[in-house]
Amino acid sequence: MSAEVQNYQSAGNPCRQCMPLGASWAFKGVKGCIPVLHGSQGCATYIRRYMISHFREPIDIASSSFDETTVIFGGQENLEKAVLNVFNQYRPDIIGIATTCLSETIGDDIDRFVRELKKNQPGLCTLVPVSTPSYQGTQEEGFHRTIYALVKNLAGAGEVHAGEGPALNFFLPMITPADIRWIKDITKAMKGRAVVLPDISETLDGGLWEEYNAIPPGGTDQEEIKSLHLSEASVELGTVLPDDWRPGYWLQKQHGLPNLQAALPLGVDATDHFMKLLEDVLDCPVPPEFMEIRSRLTDAYADAHKYLYGKKVVLFGDTSTVEALYRFTSEIGMNPVFCFTGSPSGILKKAIEKLGTPPVSTTAPLVMEDCDFGDAEGIIEEMNPDMLIGNSKGYKIARKLDIPLLRVGFPIHDRFGASRQRMLGYSGTLNLLDQIVNMLLEKKQSDSDIGYTYI
Ligand code: SF4
Repeated sequence: MSAEVQNYQSAGNPCRQCMPLGASWAFKGVKGCIPVLHGSQGCATYIRRYMISHFREPIDIASSSFDETTVIFGGQENLEKAVLNVFNQYRPDIIGIATTCLSETIGDDIDRFVRELKKNQPGLCTLVPVSTPSYQGTQEEGFHRTIYALVKNLAGAGEVHAGEGPALNFFLPMITPADIRWIKDITKAMKGRAVVLPDISETLDGGLWEEYNAIPPGGTDQEEIKSLHLSEASVELGTVLPDDWRPGYWLQKQHGLPNLQAALPLGVDATDHFMKLLEDVLDCPVPPEFMEIRSRLTDAYADAHKYLYGKKVVLFGDTSTVEALYRFTSEIGMNPVFCFTGSPSGILKKAIEKLGTPPVSTTAPLVMEDCDFGDAEGIIEEMNPDMLIGNSKGYKIARKLDIPLLRVGFPIHDRFGASRQRMLGYSGTLNLLDQIVNMLLEKKQSDSDIGYTYI
């Protein structure tokens, strides 16, 4: 065996998590829903650990608990037992069933299992299956596939009721509970009703309970999902996804519902577009309290310019976050030189190519997909950027190369308050801008022999 083959590593500290993690995140944003992972217990344990240390909330995820026999004879019996156990213990409204690498590899037909389970156990709650083989993609793919499965299985099914006021369906990438609350607040202030799927604003960032709840309160109601096709329109925010991950596209095709697309509202330009979209579709001006902060933000852009102009930044994480950060850091005069993601989808490259070279640079950024931190480290060392923006898995590189790391995205395991991070809208943008400038100032101050107290 050649030395090259002997030393080959398939991944060195991957910049991705697994597909069923994204599925669990999405199911956690549905009211009364418990996720069941069809596979070995380790998958559920790893995902619970990751989500608990990011959100700092209790996260129940069940497993069909494969063993050697299941791997040979198939997991149908185990899945039935798992679903019945979960139903009897939690009395959920929905059980979301996501496959894992193992059940996909042995070829378990999850759709057939669920069809037969529904037939044999007519008193069960709603069951929604989704195929999430993690070797095909990342948490993002799992997340979007799950939203799509929820809409396809439930929208227009059974008795439907239009709620009060004009409703907008929001299909969002994996953003924070605090940013979801902002989207709901602004829609409400414009006399609309935001149906956010998934809505983790309470389920993964709740308050103290007076008494124990087996399932945390909050989440998108199943009745709302059934009535999605009766809304005014769907709004898909973030990167443009393939058609078979896009619930807004499906609702348009099946029910003729208008489907609008926009960038995540991070930065002045993207937020202006988002506000205009809301004004047009809800036929209501943006209330002054949401606009006042725009002028404070543009003033802060002017003040921050001397600290930010031309500063080299490396962006990494999921594709929607990296795309939004690329727009924003380009808008504030920074130079995003290197963007990478663990997702192999091809979406990030296309999105950044479309956005073009940042105004402060004549060179297009390096964009890498299916990239891990092992590959990224040498490139970052060579580029010698002023800062990194991404999740806390970049910490080892940041520490080794002595480059400041601003934690944004998922997972954040070494800082507090990830659920309450705001970066959307004028107010969220201002919050992120302040953090970036202060991080650069802190670095300059701590590197200096003089010990500036006035920068
Ligand atoms: S990558 Fe596959 S085996 Fe590993 S936790 Fe995810 S689903 Fe389970």
